[in-house]
Order: sequence, then structure tokens, then C-alpha cells
Amino acid sequence: MKLAIKVDVDTDQGTANGVLPLGKLFKEYQIPATFLFSFGPDNTGKAICRIFRPGFFKKVARTKVTQVYGWKTLLSGTLLPAPHIAKRHAKIMRQMRDDGFEVGIHCYDHFRWQDYVHQMTPAEVDQEFQKAITEFQKIFGEKPQTAGAPGWQANTNSLTTYDRANLLYASDTRGHSPFFPRINNIVFKTPQIPTTLPTLDELLGLPEFLDESAIPNHYLSIMKNTLNVLTIHAELEGSAKFKLFNAFIEKALASGMEFVSLKEYASSLLKDPHSIPICELIQSSIPNRSGLLACQGL
Ligand SMILES: [Zn+2]
Repeated sequence: MKLAIKVDVDTDQGTANGVLPLGKLFKEYQIPATFLFSFGPDNTGKAICRIFRPGFFKKVARTKVTQVYGWKTLLSGTLLPAPHIAKRHAKIMRQMRDDGFEVGIHCYDHFRWQDYVHQMTPAEVDQEFQKAITEFQKIFGEKPQTAGAPGWQANTNSLTTYDRANLLYASDTRGHSPFFPRINNIVFKTPQIPTTLPTLDELLGLPEFLDESAIPNHYLSIMKNTLNVLTIHAELEGSAKFKLFNAFIEKALASGMEFVSLKEYASSLLKDPHSIPICELIQSSIPNRSGLLACQGL
């Protein structure tokens, strides 16, 4: 079985405290991982408005969001000024690249993309992504080759922008296998490698996982014989749930899991692009996550 790990880094605190421990763990076990950074202002606090959305209260109660994120992050961009993540943590980001990990774009402003991308004009989406590219180039001195959007929020505008940026591949979707996305009969040229597994925050607090030590074995039991893609968060697996994630990695290695790099997997797939199917990109829901996400359709 093959597993690729994508690390979404959402916040200033997550970049400061969650990235290096994950990098150390992956280095120790020689696991390739892809770090996707948020480069602009951390406006996470504004996401508190999500409390007013249906289904959110249940989730907050389950995952104890204040314990995971801390009040500093929850107030960022509201009562506390929004820290500019790339300006503050360029060194940490660069270290991940220098340690051999793939780095890419999660977003410029996480809150803005996750909550408003579907209301933005094509030009606004393009500008938002270009701002992330500019920061990426300042830090890494090269063009980004991959991106994965906040909250799996993608649409015609964002995929158009990705195509224009000539990314090697993107990972914005939830699904089962790599595909070229199609929306309204437009086929985009940047292949999607979807997240195939549920995220930890979708499992935590479910009645069957009140004892969370059952989660590593659960993950292993739902892996498929093809490529599995797991999205983790610097704020969760890199911080409060680091021990649990460590236990999962050790179990996966003991089970003979082969860890693969998304970049290398994408490169090998693209040697024969005709082998990659075209699938509809649809907006759909995922168990234990509120709202609609970009999903792989037929
Ligand atoms: Zn995110």
C-alpha cells in the first residue's frame, strides 16, 4: 500500500509551532511529505463567524476547537492584528524545502479563500493566488509547482488560475484517484491528486473514537491498494495530536506501508497523461465536515 502525506499549514501559530516537529518526525523515518503554506495574514479569528453556520456547534463541542487552536489564533485578525505569516516564518518554510520536502501553496489568506472564494470574481481569485505566488517566490526563489486550497474550496476560477500558473499538479479535492477536473465541459490541464482519507478532525470525537488511540488502526483498515492521500494539519497532528500521529506513523511503517512523494507520483503519472481519467469536479459534502467541498465526481 502507498501513502502520500500532505501537510496543510493554516495559521501563524501552526507555522511557528507545528511545522518543525512534523519535519523532524518525517526526517527520522525518511518519509516524504508535502508542506502547503498559508503565506499572507492570519485572519483565523474572523472564521469565528462560522459559529453561526448549521452544524458548527456540534463540531466545536466534539473537537474542542479552543484546545486545538488556542485563543491567540482564534482572535487573530479580530481583537489581535492579523500577523503576516510569510514575513514572520520564512526561515521555517525554507528549512522544510532545504530538508528535502516538497513545498507549495495552501493560500494567501486562509479565511478569505475558505469563506469567500465562491463569491470572488475571476480577477479577485487570480489576484489572491498571485499574492501567494509572489510570497512563495520571495522565500524559495522559484516558482511553485503545487497548490492545495483551504477547506477543499475550488471552482472554475481557481482552476483557471492554477492552469495559468503552470502547476505540475494540485490537490484541492476529496476523491479516490488522480484525475483531470472538468467543470461545465471545461477540462483543466492541472491534474488533481485528491485527498482520499478522512482528516483527523473529521474522526475525533465520533462515538467510536472516544478512545482516540483506536484511530491509527482505523486509518490502516480503510487504506486502499492504490495511492492513499492523507491531509494533516500543522495545527493538529503537528501540535496537540502529535503523539497520536506519531503512533499512526509507527503503525503504518510496521505494516509495511510505502510512503510516496506527491510530486514524484504526479511526475510519473504525467509521463502518460492519457492514463489519467477526466472526472467532473462537483461541490459535495463529506461526513463530519460542514459545508460543500470540491469532490471528484464521475
Ligand atoms: Zn487549511
